[in-house]
Amino acid sequence: MDFSKVKFLLSVHSIKQLPAAELPEVAFAGRSNVGKSSLINKLLGRKGLVKVSARPGKTQGLNYFQVGEQFYLVDLPGYGFAKVPKAMQNDWQGLISTYLQNRSTLKCVVVIVDIRHEPKSQDTQLFDWLRVNNIPFIPVYTKIDKLSGNERMKNATRLDKGHSIHPSQRILFSAKSGQGRDDLIAALASFVW
Ligand code: GDP
Repeated sequence: MDFSKVKFLLSVHSIKQLPAAELPEVAFAGRSNVGKSSLINKLLGRKGLVKVSARPGKTQGLNYFQVGEQFYLVDLPGYGFAKVPKAMQNDWQGLISTYLQNRSTLKCVVVIVDIRHEPKSQDTQLFDWLRVNNIPFIPVYTKIDKLSGNERMKNATRLDKGHSIHPSQRILFSAKSGQGRDDLIAALASFVW
């Protein structure tokens, strides 16, 4: 994958605004603050492309980035932030689920989970929903640099069990060290081509 040409395309706030479905797409999802922006920046090798720790609570769209002529990377709004009003959460869910269920060019969803956390119900719901809807996904457990090797494996196993994920399916990642980046690129490549 060639990440030398990456550009921000647009922010989509309603289905009507989606760009023409001309390139394969990969969507990135995760709870607020999970490390999604850091992961995307590390993956693309661009420090400030996606704003890290952008203030949650504001209306956020689906942020489209174009990677060369190869694919669109779609940064979905973070979920699970308690302070966002319920009505806004529902709007987000509506837009996101409609997008995920209907986008013909969507190849897979990268679901990012903090390796330090216990399995969270919102993540379980997302994994289950993706399975029910036959949408391929790649689970990524991030921030692994924050745990020792032993704890890392213990926590990874706990998340695997909690979300019914086979260990060979998921990727361990660190936006700090770059560990797991090659694995993620290989996994993405297998879906995009
Ligand atoms: P987002 O809200 O999901 O986009 O999360 P951010 O990318 O803004 O990250 C939230 C916080 O976690 C920031 O302070 C990041 O610097 C930190 N962070 C994200 N990924 C990692 C990682 O892999 N390792 C470490 N040590 N910190 C991380």
